[in-house]
Amino acid sequence: MRAAQLRLEDLFEVDSTGGIFRFAGERVVLLDAVALGLLRTQLVQDFGERVARGILTRLGYSHGWRIAEAIRETLPWDDQHEWQSAGGRLHRLKGMVRFEPVQDAQRKGPEPLADALWFDSYEAEQHLTHLGQSKEPVCWSLCGFASGYLSAATGKDVYCIEESCVGCGDSVCRMLGRTREEWGEEIEPHLPFYEKDCLEASLRSLRDEIKQTEARLRATKKKLKEKTKDTDPSGLIAQSQAMQQVLQLAQRTATVDTPILIYGETGVGKERIAQLIHDRSPRQAGPFVAINCAALPDQLLESELFGFDEGAFTGASHARAGLFEAAQGGTLFLDEIGEISPALQVRLLRVLQERKVRRLGENHDRPVDIRILSATHRDLHQAVQAGHFREDLLYRLRVIELHIPPLRERADDILPLARAKLKEAAQRFQRDVTDFTPAVARQLLRYTWPGNVRELQNAMERAVVFAEETCIDLHDMPEEIEQAKTKTLPTLPTIKPPSWDTTSRTQQTLAEIEKEHILAVLHHTQNNKTEAAKRLGIGIATLFRKLKAYQEETLQEP
Ligand SMILES: [Zn+2]
Repeated sequence: MRAAQLRLEDLFEVDSTGGIFRFAGERVVLLDAVALGLLRTQLVQDFGERVARGILTRLGYSHGWRIAEAIRETLPWDDQHEWQSAGGRLHRLKGMVRFEPVQDAQRKGPEPLADALWFDSYEAEQHLTHLGQSKEPVCWSLCGFASGYLSAATGKDVYCIEESCVGCGDSVCRMLGRTREEWGEEIEPHLPFYEKDCLEASLRSLRDEIKQTEARLRATKKKLKEKTKDTDPSGLIAQSQAMQQVLQLAQRTATVDTPILIYGETGVGKERIAQLIHDRSPRQAGPFVAINCAALPDQLLESELFGFDEGAFTGASHARAGLFEAAQGGTLFLDEIGEISPALQVRLLRVLQERKVRRLGENHDRPVDIRILSATHRDLHQAVQAGHFREDLLYRLRVIELHIPPLRERADDILPLARAKLKEAAQRFQRDVTDFTPAVARQLLRYTWPGNVRELQNAMERAVVFAEETCIDLHDMPEEIEQAKTKTLPTLPTIKPPSWDTTSRTQQTLAEIEKEHILAVLHHTQNNKTEAAKRLGIGIATLFRKLKAYQEETLQEP
């Protein structure tokens, strides 16, 4: 039999079920060309053209090699040559490309093993459709197929390369096949696509590239994280609406260059909010200087703030600038401003009014360009009333007021904050502690946090140090948190000892008496609802429903 006699009907069979196709005895599937085109596109886009070419060339190669083996024994070939030259015919019968051998008398050098024109290459068509015109030939799997087939049929390393290709704008694809020796140096650039090593090398370099990109990404992330750690107190964690409002207000007021007074209990993170305001302000490039006014005795605080001249007082061996000057062009944050002495209040007022400072022991002023942010846990209006704080200073400081709610009023922040603090502590102490038990979570939510975020941070640090397992247990927590009882309902301010004055009781409705009684029992059981429901002789669900109704009543009252 000769190659030209190969016909599709001799090679292609459909089995009796109609679901299994065979070509030259091997199972085949019909895939539409577009699907293959999309696969090629995906490979090029995900791994680059080089890797895609390698994969498709190898795919074609093994396809060609296998079919050469498959038809060698099953068909009665006239001779070896007919079998060898059947590859092109098979290509055509498989619908991949129309093959026409060329006899080129003009060609110099030894006659190639294969020289053919390819028409209607499905591969060039798909490449053009999905990826557009290429700079180099694109019939990669066809070349692979021809190379694989001829290598199997001749027992030599044969490489088929396209001289021209429709995929790169030529009018026709032309393929040449030679052995490696015949090709000489010319084949070198093509070899990598045929070698498995090449694919591995390509993938390796791709992997290296990915690794490098990942490293760069990690570095950027780390930098960003470090930056946010210092400058963005979203590290403050604001899941609660109350805190989100504070952050929004802080960011809005940041751009207005006025003094801001921050109210909040100890440990709520006033300095971090001040830092946020500075970082979002036009002064962000300038320094952010913070001092806790309650931490220093009056005289020391004064010399810290204002600076001093040489010999201004005993021990002033050389002149030094104060913090007002150090904050030049930036922001000075005065924490616990409510603690400063009346004398210092006067001096501070003068700085705010005149924007000048005078170092201790000097007799001339220095201009300062700073924004003053201050904070306090005290009610300064009350301090003004009591005569402890200057009213004019207060009005200078509180052009804008920000109130940071205590932690117990923003329950939504407690667990996310606890997790963040746990993670920080685990990293700092290099301990493999990753979580806490549900019982710990319950107690964290029950506890009232008088020391706020700072207390939570200390508690988590301690727990990380004490934890024996990777998960923090209740007994790793400070006692007061471990023992914390259920919070009394903060939204039920009407809980008060009932008046048993019968004269007034006759004025009440039954519902009012019932409410009073229920709240009194709750009070007696220290807000233990199960116990209260038992004493009242009602179901727990009924109790909850009634409490909820009382709560809503309270909210509706003017
Ligand atoms: Zn081509």
